[in-house]
Amino acid sequence: MVTILGITGGIGSGKSTASKILGELGAFVIDADVVGHKIYQPDTPAWREIVETFGDEVIASDRTIDRTKLGAIVFSAPEKLEALNKITHGKIYSYIQGQIDYIRAHDPNRVIAVEAAILLEAGWRSLVEALWVVVASEDVVINRLQTYKNMSEDQARARINAQMTNDERIAQADQVIWNNGELHDLQQAVETSWQRLNG
Ligand code: ATP
Repeated sequence: MVTILGITGGIGSGKSTASKILGELGAFVIDADVVGHKIYQPDTPAWREIVETFGDEVIASDRTIDRTKLGAIVFSAPEKLEALNKITHGKIYSYIQGQIDYIRAHDPNRVIAVEAAILLEAGWRSLVEALWVVVASEDVVINRLQTYKNMSEDQARARINAQMTNDERIAQADQVIWNNGELHDLQQAVETSWQRLNG
């Protein structure tokens, strides 16, 4: 029986929406992005290392790390992105592992869904027992990023091109969740896969 499920996919593919549906179906959802926010809180070890590496300019007015500023610094410089990943990935992984251990100790049969955009890039495949990849075609994603995130078409394409391709993700998937249609189609696809998981 699968109790630890990984959910990944490209930017704007619908990972968070699929994970929310999984939560409604009974999974305990761990969002790696939320964990990332936690480790960016002031005076944590990651916070200190990030400020030492990237300077005081990445400190926001509330003293958390300004992720937009940090993103702008690392996005165009691969070696800086690598330095940031080195600081954060291991800490996020340990935090998630701790949450998994806790939930397993208290509720051993509960399905835990780990939603992480970076699951494959960070080498976390072995953290989960099965991997679902949420996929939407490039045109659909560009449209969503323009509509929901106010990005230009060029910005959206640049973000997509900086990531792994859908084919690379699909090659590692146990289940592909297509999300080119309406929200109720996604709901249906997640429910079908959930039933298969529990059946
Ligand atoms: P990110 O990588 O930016 O975190 P994500 O993969 O988690 O994105 P979501 O946040 O789930 O993707 O979806 C991106 C946006 O597209 C959201 O505003 C969501 O409501 C919308 N969306 C997702 N799926 C659909 C759909 N099938 N129909 C319409 N809108 C959708």
